[in-house]
Amino acid sequence: MRIDILTLFPDMFSGVFGNSILKRSIQKGLLEVHTHDIRNFTLSKHRRVDDYPFGGEAGMVMMIEPIARCIEQLQLERDYDAVIFMSPDGVPFKQNAANRLSMVENIIILCGHYKGIDERIREIYITEEISIGDYVLSGGEIAAMAVVDAVVRVIPGVLNDETSALSDSFQDGLLSAPVYTRPADYKGHKVPDVLLSGNERLIKDWKLEQQLLRTSQRRPDLLED
Ligand code: SAH
Repeated sequence: MRIDILTLFPDMFSGVFGNSILKRSIQKGLLEVHTHDIRNFTLSKHRRVDDYPFGGEAGMVMMIEPIARCIEQLQLERDYDAVIFMSPDGVPFKQNAANRLSMVENIIILCGHYKGIDERIREIYITEEISIGDYVLSGGEIAAMAVVDAVVRVIPGVLNDETSALSDSFQDGLLSAPVYTRPADYKGHKVPDVLLSGNERLIKDWKLEQQLLRTSQRRPDLLED
């Protein structure tokens, strides 16, 4: 899978893509990430990327041309399955979207900043808009990182234990069961006996019961869905 990220702050991504599972998936050849500095696509001498909003609101708006030139250049090089804009008014990001996007070849992710981007970019180029929650970040970069991480960890072969992503929260519409490791007894706080029993069927039943319990206590809305 190839992901092209359009941003005013490409340096923000190096830490995230240089560590852990994202780093490993790049090394394994399962993921290619390219960040593009929108500033490099300006035609103006001063490399201007934002301007005052028409109608006189506070804040600056990212201009059409540099973003349009960057997207158009990429689209000349290959076909994209989705051109995504990160935005608080986008579709709330859920696990099913991560699963779906993990199966496509090429995506573009555009990160806004300041007051946002000129609406016409959204009309002309954007095929999908994603929000990571009902709060406003300073820019789309952290939101894009969250989306990329969630997408990449469900690409087959990325996680060492293939089944591991399947037992995570949300994959089956439920929250995950609690997990434990050694020691079995920490200052009197014991691991549930059933997990030490070796009885696979009992363990499976216990996990499902815990998932249902957790989901009904913490996220009853998931059970309604
Ligand atoms: N004026 C906009 C917010 C701009 S915040 C509004 O009220 O909707 C600047 C940029 O940060 C946005 O363009 C978007 O790319 C990103 N951003 C902020 N919050 C986000 C969220 N919850 N999810 C995804 N992207 C977000």
